Amino acid sequence: MGKWTRRILTTIGVLAVIGGAAYYWFIVESHMPSSGSYAIDMTEVRRLAGSMPGDKVQEIHVEHVASFSFPATATVAGDGWNTLDVPVQSYQLVFPDHTAIIDTALSEATGKAAGIVSFDGQAYDRMDAAMDKASLIVITHEHLDHIGGLSAHPHLAQILQVTRLTKEQVDNPEYMTTAKLPAGSLDGYKPLVYDRYVAIAPGVVLIKAPGHTPGSQMVYVQRADGTEYLFLGDVAWTLRNVDVVRERARLITQFFIREDRDAVMLELAELHRIHEAEPKLHMIPGHDAIVLAASLKDGLLIDKFK
Ligand SMILES: [Zn+2]
Repeated sequence: MGKWTRRILTTIGVLAVIGGAAYYWFIVESHMPSSGSYAIDMTEVRRLAGSMPGDKVQEIHVEHVASFSFPATATVAGDGWNTLDVPVQSYQLVFPDHTAIIDTALSEATGKAAGIVSFDGQAYDRMDAAMDKASLIVITHEHLDHIGGLSAHPHLAQILQVTRLTKEQVDNPEYMTTAKLPAGSLDGYKPLVYDRYVAIAPGVVLIKAPGHTPGSQMVYVQRADGTEYLFLGDVAWTLRNVDVVRERARLITQFFIREDRDAVMLELAELHRIHEAEPKLHMIPGHDAIVLAASLKDGLLIDKFK
């Protein structure tokens, strides 16, 4: 073997090792941080859920507004390159005499710019109209596929009067990217300030969960009949993230979302513990087509807003 052939082969070998390590680090790896903690005190959450007087939620409706399409490994690091349907939803909590909305999906224009593969205009219009009638609107976090319907709403000033954006969500508009609220729309707005948990309606409790974004939170809902839900926001895109305690690929969290990966891993571990201990608590991840279909089939979620 000549000197140059040997050099070329050595270089290819070194590049292959570097490439393999980079592939593992950015596409496959998902480890638990060695320090830090995250815990949810479900006893306290349930106490708060019962602390507000009034009738609890009777039904939860869902609008599947749009879908993205991601490789599986983007959602659960190491899950390979088969394509995953990534639905974008909005939820309507139906009380006897009023309604509340969790997350507002995104507008068609925002969605197309962000690469959605499908959009249901009728679902979006029903959500838009339901926002006009809602007595309360919350978003799990300040990303465009959750705040987009709010940002684009034609009656934003009126809608904001019933919308409880948190201080962290308002303070981090850069995370809203292309779905930023119009300039000046939050002038004089008083954001929701809370520490770990806060009850916002009978049976409904917000649970702070920063990491995916600074303003990330989960929403616990206890129906009047006792059925319990935990809307995870994008702490977990799928229930599989909770089951196997694995994060999205680092390529996604580091360069596209810029999230606090350690914080999310600790949250996933706590959700895993709760999921094992309390199988009757229905976890609804941010973008899980399997959970969405199963929840519709079981009647845990009802198709189309009222
Ligand atoms: Zn999302």
